[in-house]
Order: sequence, then structure tokens, then C-alpha cells
Amino acid sequence: MFDSLSDRLQGIFSGLKSKGRLTEQDIDSAMREIRMALLEADVNFKVVKSFIRSAKERCLTAEVMDSLTPAQNVIKVVLDELTRLLGENDAKLTLSSRIPNVIMLVGLQGSGKTTAAAKLAYLLKGKGHSPLLVACDVYRPAAADQLQTLGDEMGVKVYRGDGQDPVKIASEGVRFAIDNLRDVVIVDTAGRLHVDEDMMAEAEAIKEAVTPDEILMVVDAMTGQDVVNVAQAFAERVEFDGVIMSKMDGDARGGGALSLKQVTGKPIKFISAGEKPDSLEEFHPDRMAKRILG
Ligand code: GDP
Repeated sequence: MFDSLSDRLQGIFSGLKSKGRLTEQDIDSAMREIRMALLEADVNFKVVKSFIRSAKERCLTAEVMDSLTPAQNVIKVVLDELTRLLGENDAKLTLSSRIPNVIMLVGLQGSGKTTAAAKLAYLLKGKGHSPLLVACDVYRPAAADQLQTLGDEMGVKVYRGDGQDPVKIASEGVRFAIDNLRDVVIVDTAGRLHVDEDMMAEAEAIKEAVTPDEILMVVDAMTGQDVVNVAQAFAERVEFDGVIMSKMDGDARGGGALSLKQVTGKPIKFISAGEKPDSLEEFHPDRMAKRILG
């Protein structure tokens, strides 16, 4: 996903490394190139602006400029700033002592919610939990079947309920988990093509009925900067705790993922990169920043 940004940054850094001592002008021109590289990677304009301002200020200190390896220090500054952009510290899934914990997934249709719900169940199962998937997308007829198929593949029980009331299914799902000794309930909700009133009202009603310990919004990394707009629109109505960024294996330029935390204040907690059960990973800002810098 970040291949072309990585290539650009590596090119800029190898130019700096070949110089030995650096002048203010060298820093200026490197920052200009980094700015271009970030904008071309589709990073939000305001985010780029503050990134460059802060990186430049830190690079122009005596500590960097007068050091024996100024280029290495510039790279270190960029790495730090990139890590900060991505969220600095790991934003972990917070499970409480309540049994069952309830995790609710929200997001637009096609964002990868159902897939992420199943993969999250698989990940939690691997950590010794006993998850239950609850199919609350009653509008897309194939959604419950899809969740069932994924659940069967991963050896995770799926609660489907009957009827067309997602709030009732969610509540019944929690009751089912209590009766069947499941310690984490993952509620897959319905998405719409756009953030709209019906979707928000339904998400709020489910939230009220099952009081989730964690609400995760699934966003599709392939939608570029729109990721940020969708997350922001959502955050204004339904308070969520973090983001699962899906389709990180695609060839999008990655700017949405890089802008999200700064613009919306919501941390990325998981990334999903593929269709396999184990392709959901906890997100580590420092590792991702290192990967981007190559
Ligand atoms: P939902 O409508 O939000 O529940 O979305 P789905 O879970 O049905 O996903 C929509 C499509 O995206 C499906 O074809 C999934 O197989 C695909 N998908 C989901 N996550 C990923 C991912 O991380 N990588 C790739 N390549 N495809 C994904």
C-alpha cells in the first residue's frame, strides 16, 4: 500500500546521506520533497502542513545539524513524526471484566465489516477467548449467510436470530452468549452506501440495547481520503473507540490511513490485509512507520 511513498522517501533520504554536513537549504529542499511525497500519497493537506512544520523545526536544531550523522538524525525525526501521525502508542482493544464483553462493528456497506467481524473473532479465539458472532445486518439478505460461512470456517458460533429487528437480535445474541458461556460478543451491524440517518439511528439503538465495551468502525483503505470524511461524519453521531482499516493489501496510496488519527482523533486499532482468517492484525504505529520508511 505504501510502496510508492516508501520509494519516494528512501530516495530523499539517500540524497541527504550522500551529503555529509547539511545546510538549512538542504533541510528546506528535503522537506519540500517530503511534502510533495505525502500529498501524492493522498495525505490530508492540513496533516501534511503540520507534519512538515514540526519535522522541519526539529531538524533545524543544533542537535541534528551539528551532529556527526545529520542525515540519520533527519530520518529519525521523520520516523518519529510519522509514528506520531499514526497514533504514537498502540491503541489496543479494551476488554473489560464484564462477561460477555460486547464489541460492535459499524461502517458503510462494503467496507469489510462482516469479514472483519469474523477475523476479529478468529484473532480473539487464538488468544483463548470464546467469541460469539451476532448477525444484525438484516437488510442485506446474504450478510447473515456470509457471516455463518465465515464463522463455520473459523470454528466460531454465529447467532442469527429470526425476524427483522436488529436491536432485538443484538440483545438476544448477548443473552445467547451468557447462556452458552461465550465471553466476547461481536455484533456485525448493517451498513448503508452512505452515512445516513437510518444507519446512525440503528447504530445508536443497538448501542443503547447492548452497551458495547468497544465500538469499532470499519473503513475501507481503498477509498483514500474519503475514509477520513466517513469516520468524521460517523463520529459526530455515534461515539466509537477506534478503527479497523480494511483492505490494506490493496493498491491505494495510503493517505487515508495516515490522516485518520490526526483528523478524527480516532486511533486505528486493527488493520486487515487480505481475505484469510489470520489477515487481521493489531495495529502498531511504530512498526507501520518503520515499514513506510523502509
Ligand atoms: P460489509 O458490507 O461491510 O460487511 O463488507 P464485507 O465484509 O462483505 O466485505 C466487502 C468485500 O471486501 C468482500 O468481497 C470481502 O471479501 C472484501 N474484503 C474485506 N476485507 C478485505 C481485505 O482486508 N482485503 C481484501 N482484499 N478484501 C477484503
